[in-house]
Amino acid sequence: MELESILLPGIDPKRPLVISGPCSAETEEQVMTTAAALKKLGVKIFRAGVWKPRTKPGGFEGHGAEAFPWLKRVKEELGMYIAVEVANVKHVRESLANDVDIIWIGARTTANPFSVQEIADALEGTDIPVLIKNPVNPDVDLWIGAVQRIYKAGIRRIGAIHRGFSSGDNKIYRNLPQWHIPIELHRQIPNLPIICDPSHIGGRRDLIAPICQQAMDLNFDGLIIESHCNPEKAWSDAAQQVSPEVLELILDNIVIRDTKQSTESLAALRRQIDGLDNDLLELLAKRMRVSKEIGVYKKEHNMPILQAQRYDELLKDRIAQAEKMDMSGEFMKTVLMAIHEESVRQQMIIMKNP
Ligand code: PEP
Ligand code: MN
Repeated sequence: MELESILLPGIDPKRPLVISGPCSAETEEQVMTTAAALKKLGVKIFRAGVWKPRTKPGGFEGHGAEAFPWLKRVKEELGMYIAVEVANVKHVRESLANDVDIIWIGARTTANPFSVQEIADALEGTDIPVLIKNPVNPDVDLWIGAVQRIYKAGIRRIGAIHRGFSSGDNKIYRNLPQWHIPIELHRQIPNLPIICDPSHIGGRRDLIAPICQQAMDLNFDGLIIESHCNPEKAWSDAAQQVSPEVLELILDNIVIRDTKQSTESLAALRRQIDGLDNDLLELLAKRMRVSKEIGVYKKEHNMPILQAQRYDELLKDRIAQAEKMDMSGEFMKTVLMAIHEESVRQQMIIMKNP
């Protein structure tokens, strides 16, 4: 993909790119007070939900176009860029008509290719930057598909937002981070900037700082953090919004590790890892060959593949050995079970074939 590297003029290229503002634009005063405090911190892109996707009806669903005059004030009086979520063609048209600088596609919308395509068609001929949140379900192809639809509409300033994935098992996080998914997205589209949304991942104020740090350690490009002048009283997502003062603390405490300085010694260490992985693979292949020979023997002597006692002894022995070598027994058990499964699979093939 030939993407433009600068999303908006005047935005500092150094990490992290910061987008902040309330979950929803609630009142003109809330918008102006929050934005003015954020501007003082150096935040240049102000987010505010104008149309809010709510899980159940009855919650605050946003003021819609009524909120645009407030956002216009933020733009004109404070000189900040404005970012708004769009979920359909009408939202796109109204955002464009109201000089929104950057739009994002929400997680529920990204999950639906029909909706993304409609938005892409409405964007044809424009060049507004578009940020695409991951779909609610952990499907990297669906996320990439959404990026491709927007790209095919001619948009060249595209970014991704990682906001975590819905799960029934949300004990700590509101949405599980499943970091391997944005990492895979980055592997497939290396020049696509990825912004982390710790607010929707964590769902709780106290989780924002550690998630920001993790995102920076994983080399994410930016952060989109919900902030509110009076977070406890927010009309939506009150538990996860922070005041601009807390945002300042969070940003000040993030450690940005120097990628350049460490890459040389890292490269040497990585070469060692590559070599060791290679040795591991060779050894595993050798082990499989021996295991196949055992398979042949068992077949000739009409013996069953699985010999439970031997397997049990082997597990216990290796787990004890691993623990002596400073590895967790649980880890060794997982590795051995996976190796055993593959051994059994290979022996089954021998049993079945004449
Ligand atoms: C939001 O950014 O306020 C929002 C609704 O996010 P998501 O689409 O990630 O749920
Ligand atoms: Mn929100």
